[in-house]
Amino acid sequence: MPPSIIAIDGPVASGKSSIGKRLADRLGYLFFDTGVMYRAVTYLALRELGSAQEAAAVTALAESAHIDVLPPTVEDGRDCTIQAGVANGPVQDITWATRGKDVEDNVSLVAAVQPVRRVLTEQMRRVGLRGRVVMVGRDVGTVILPEADLKIFLDASVETRARRRYDEVRARGESRDYADIVANLRERDRIDSSRAIAPLRPAADAVHLDTTDLGLEAVIGKIEALVAVGP
Ligand code: C5P
Repeated sequence: MPPSIIAIDGPVASGKSSIGKRLADRLGYLFFDTGVMYRAVTYLALRELGSAQEAAAVTALAESAHIDVLPPTVEDGRDCTIQAGVANGPVQDITWATRGKDVEDNVSLVAAVQPVRRVLTEQMRRVGLRGRVVMVGRDVGTVILPEADLKIFLDASVETRARRRYDEVRARGESRDYADIVANLRERDRIDSSRAIAPLRPAADAVHLDTTDLGLEAVIGKIEALVAVGP
């Protein structure tokens, strides 16, 4: 029996989404990128509140907002479609809006707010416990689904990760400074690793994979070998 719940954690742009999505597709599992939930709340906070600084207001928004993560509804390079809206407001496709610089500059602050994490973690855990899922994030193996059958911790050098993110952004036709991408990546990693609740860190029973010198297929091959061994 292959592992039913697969957790992949790691820092910014370590390859979690590209690898997790392909792995899930091959196994016929659901792919769930938990980062998109934090991005969605951050986007809604910036749009509705004008800022993501007020913990109580952001928490109220996280509790009342409607956020849906669906398989891609448009073939434009997205890994999933995010539909969201505030209570009594229209539900809209906010997929690309959640990838913007304003969201990336604020998302780690939102993700450090404990009640926001409580609300989102509960929703993610409910989906994950159904099984046949590849869930990726920062605390999937440690907090969201500590009972996961297989836990992977992906990492790569800062330069490799920044270069990947830069290429991704350019491929979408957006212009962003390389220096800005490096700064954002370092700052998010710093906040994510040092927060009091559910910090970014490998679970004790996670398999570490450094992808600095490995292509996508090589990493997937390694994970598939672990999947074949079973839980
Ligand atoms: O993975 P991604 O870069 O899209 O995640 C955006 C942000 O969401 C991260 O920088 C982190 O602050 C937060 N996050 C988290 N816990 C997760 C997934 C994401 O705190 N499980």
